[in-house]
Amino acid sequence: MELKFTENLFSLNQDDVVTKKNLYDLIQFSKVKGSEYWAGDSNIINNTPQQGINWIGDLPDTKGVLIKTRPGSYVEDGWSDDSHNSYHYSFKARNNVISYTEKANQVLISQPQHLYPIFLFTESGSDWIFRGAFSVSTIEDTYVVLSRYLPNLIAEPTDEYNKNQHSEGSKKYVTHLMAERNSAIVKEVKQSREWVCDICNTIFKDTYGVKYIEAHHKIPISTYSSQHEVKVDDFTLLCPNCHKAVHIYMRKDGIEYDEIHNILKVKNA
Ligand SMILES: [Zn+2]
Ligand SMILES: [Zn+2]
Repeated sequence: MELKFTENLFSLNQDDVVTKKNLYDLIQFSKVKGSEYWAGDSNIINNTPQQGINWIGDLPDTKGVLIKTRPGSYVEDGWSDDSHNSYHYSFKARNNVISYTEKANQVLISQPQHLYPIFLFTESGSDWIFRGAFSVSTIEDTYVVLSRYLPNLIAEPTDEYNKNQHSEGSKKYVTHLMAERNSAIVKEVKQSREWVCDICNTIFKDTYGVKYIEAHHKIPISTYSSQHEVKVDDFTLLCPNCHKAVHIYMRKDGIEYDEIHNILKVKNA
């Protein structure tokens, strides 16, 4: 498969082979106006040298991320299962120090918020093998877990994205999103409750004729630690409109669920 423009990355199929020269040229020349690979500012592939990770467009307008892995480049990197559905990928460190604000790490931490695909390539001689598109499913202190891309997760509002958000706060917000994507617990929450929105009391099925509800993790973000354990009792059920509004308040005003709940209850009265 020959990549002529950045956009071609989005139509790769699993196990497609791309030569190292082709991908190298695409990355370098996507930045060069007038070159044969140039396809506009929004298709520039950025990188910091020698890190094996690239991103298409800068946050918050990132369209995708490229990861090229070589065995052993970071000790813990590699597939976490035999069926190759998840991949352990280390944050980039300089002198053994990880900065979450470094762009190469930011594009990983921010993925659950913006849901752009992460294209994973593994090395094979003079080629890269495309292993598929992935999402960040877990964020730990030193690495992320990439899982096969499922674009069905709650789309987060990007317009209110606060570029100045403190990175620790942003990491906690991502931890919050992760909790809401813990499918085993979310399933348990949904099985054990009535599907009524906690804020507007909508029963989706009655209004729209189809059963639907979302689980919101209501634990105050300020109390999160990296060892935060996710529990069924920490969730409430919300309709998609109220859920979206809650997340916008969380991000915009930094307030917690109980307070947002009270504000929205009054508005819905
Ligand atoms: Zn609602
Ligand atoms: Zn939520």
